Amino acid sequence: MTEPHVAVWDNCLKIFKDNVNIQSYKTWFEPIRPIKLEGSVLTIEVPSQFFYEWLEEHYVTLLRKTIERELGKDARLEYSIVVENSSGFKSPYTINIPTFGNTPSKNPDVSVPINIGNSIKNPFVIPGLKKINIDPQLNPNYNFESFVEGDCNRLARSAGFAVANKPGGTSFNPLVIYGGVGLGKTHLAQAIGNQAKQNFNNKTVLYVSSEKFTNQFIDALKNNSINDFVHFYQLIDLLIIDDIQFFANKEKTQDIFFHIFNHLHQSGKQLVLTSDRPPKDLEGIEERLLSRFKWGLSADLQVPDFETRIAILEKKMHADGIELPRDVVEFVSYNIDTNIRELEGALISLLAQSSLNKKEIDLEIAKKIIKNFVKSISREVSIDFIQKMVCEHFHVPIEKVKEKTRKRAIVQARQLSMFLAKSYTKNSLKLIGKHFGGRDHSTVIHSCQAIQNLLDTDEEFRDSVDELKKKIQMSSIS
Ligand code: ADP
Ligand code: MG
Repeated sequence: MTEPHVAVWDNCLKIFKDNVNIQSYKTWFEPIRPIKLEGSVLTIEVPSQFFYEWLEEHYVTLLRKTIERELGKDARLEYSIVVENSSGFKSPYTINIPTFGNTPSKNPDVSVPINIGNSIKNPFVIPGLKKINIDPQLNPNYNFESFVEGDCNRLARSAGFAVANKPGGTSFNPLVIYGGVGLGKTHLAQAIGNQAKQNFNNKTVLYVSSEKFTNQFIDALKNNSINDFVHFYQLIDLLIIDDIQFFANKEKTQDIFFHIFNHLHQSGKQLVLTSDRPPKDLEGIEERLLSRFKWGLSADLQVPDFETRIAILEKKMHADGIELPRDVVEFVSYNIDTNIRELEGALISLLAQSSLNKKEIDLEIAKKIIKNFVKSISREVSIDFIQKMVCEHFHVPIEKVKEKTRKRAIVQARQLSMFLAKSYTKNSLKLIGKHFGGRDHSTVIHSCQAIQNLLDTDEEFRDSVDELKKKIQMSSIS
């Protein structure tokens, strides 16, 4: 039989799952362990102090409501925080911090005096010896201010920000940022370094590409100075390694990195890694390294949506003191949806052309230039066109999406058509509703939400929609 605290927690998990997105659920709720239930006091174990603070800051209301629903008005939640000692082993004792229930305030005093008294002095640091000055190799332009936030990068950005404010002190260690080319991995990784440097001037921060790390290692091998190489890296408080996929099949480099990683991690130092694919898909990387990458958090960067692309272009223009008409910005953002580097490339071609021709850029010129830039320009797609594509893709008769049928397959095709019409056309919600048998705008909003939920949770559906999107884009190129 399931023990009561487990059963209660299982019920809570179902509610959490319905109320937060899947990525947040995995990050913040799955790692929690129910420990015991005494009366109406439920004790849960969380991996770290930071984890606890994050839950309290972001999910206190959800937690409270859910627990009260399960255990009644007197419900209380107690946290038990696993303390990791500096050798990385989980210590058996935990700290109980009572939270809501007896503390009516939203955020109970999170700075409860916790004296864990287990900080072991690092025997390698000689007291009084000044730290050597290491150039962090950071580009100051890659900072958080210039990094535009959007749905495409929210988790990675906020985790990165948390890490910069508490290097080594969060559960995001290592923080692995992954995503396709030109989506902002280097920018974000450097922003973390810059921010950490700004917050903690005395911390040693180092940004290095995996190629540079490999080359330094090979030089060290040649010069018989491996010890110096390793000692140097062991001095770093925040080590950022960019594009770790290039470590693939370099066994010796992986080996040395493994030792450095362990040393840093065990001494509570922070690692930030970037990769062009999720750690689980990295080939040619040793299992023991891969398993370590999973100790922290892997967060992805996706292709930004239309609005975020506009915001990025505007930020770039602002930084460079350039102004472009709004319709030009929209046109460029609409047509260049591959990655941010291309978006910037398009902006640069526009500026180059206009200064060459000594002409202000208007939509007309922009169209010409961008046409050469991407070679193919997508026409504005119509709602009818989207309906046709969706219905073909899902084998649903097109007239049905305009009727009131409540059959599941048809409802889904209808909702997806509305969703795509919202993302691909500039029609108002009202007009979109009209195309589906005169439905109102709130139905369209509801449909978009339903589809977004499905996309967030159902991989198969997401793949199918991605395929459909490609078809729509291909067929709409003139
Ligand atoms: P990656 O390392 O993933 O290939 P980069 O970090 O080099 O990508 O980013 C490519 C370009 O796009 C850079 O000039 C960067 O400043 C810009 N960029 C990426 N993401 C953002 C963002 N969210 N906001 C503003 N600029 C961005
Ligand atoms: Mg990069």
